[in-house]
Amino acid sequence: MKMLHRSFTLLCALCSPLALAVGQGQISVSIAHFGDVTVHSLTAPEDSSMVSSHVVESDQGLVLIDGQFLRPYAKQFRDYVDGLDKPMVEVLLSHHHPDHWMGLEYFPDVKVAAQQTVIDNHKRMAPVYLKQKPQEYGAEMVIDYAIEIGRALANEETIAGLRYEFTLLKGGEAPAQTLIALPDLGVMFVQDMVSSEAHAFFGARDLATWRTHLTELEAKKGDQVLFTGHGLPVQLRANAILDQIAYLETAERLREQHQHADYKTLKAAMIAAHPELKANPLADIASKFYIEKVAPMLREQRAAD
Ligand SMILES: [Zn+2]
Repeated sequence: MKMLHRSFTLLCALCSPLALAVGQGQISVSIAHFGDVTVHSLTAPEDSSMVSSHVVESDQGLVLIDGQFLRPYAKQFRDYVDGLDKPMVEVLLSHHHPDHWMGLEYFPDVKVAAQQTVIDNHKRMAPVYLKQKPQEYGAEMVIDYAIEIGRALANEETIAGLRYEFTLLKGGEAPAQTLIALPDLGVMFVQDMVSSEAHAFFGARDLATWRTHLTELEAKKGDQVLFTGHGLPVQLRANAILDQIAYLETAERLREQHQHADYKTLKAAMIAAHPELKANPLADIASKFYIEKVAPMLREQRAAD
């Protein structure tokens, strides 16, 4: 791979004061240059779990990687993209979780593409999220209809003049998740496989498989620049993947210990174990999902073994 000139700028690192009401904050922007390609990363404040969407800007237009979640930040994302004043080519969706596509309601004029398994998961789960999320966040914060994913991605494609590779990882943070790589730039969007300075969805069923994927990713990442689905881009943090593995080990231990407790006990234990991490709403969602759904299911499975 030829060496490209790389440079990074963080325009606004969590510029919102923390005590604002939900949806009142300001999205953070970080910009990275890879030769004449620019990656813009937009990270929501804590109240929207620090969801990160990215824009790959080349001379042929803009490719978006994932959307935002809550409406106010989705609108800010749209305004930012409009300000770049280039044609939007496509949105590439990494996985079916609602925090990465609900805000795409602000992009009705752009087509969405994903790998077939992600499309299938989206079809299956979107009706559940559309019922659940307005109850959690208020109907004014999230949409009530499912976006359409119009195209299934192949394993390798050229989009807006750039070569992309798509690798499906089964199990882990989501039942299926796509790693989106730009091999000629040394860039990889790992999205929710790695959180950066933020909590992760530790309520997921199979943390062991997630750790296995991360161990493999660590072994092959080389000097690729990684971009995540929650938190600030990790390009400057060499230990991001190893930190995520350690985080999941803590989660496994605390899940086991508190599996019969109220979800708030598990949440408090994870926050106490990692006081340096932000995005507590994500710790809330993860704890609830584990205590209410995953722990009973795992106990049933063990009883049947
Ligand atoms: Zn997410």
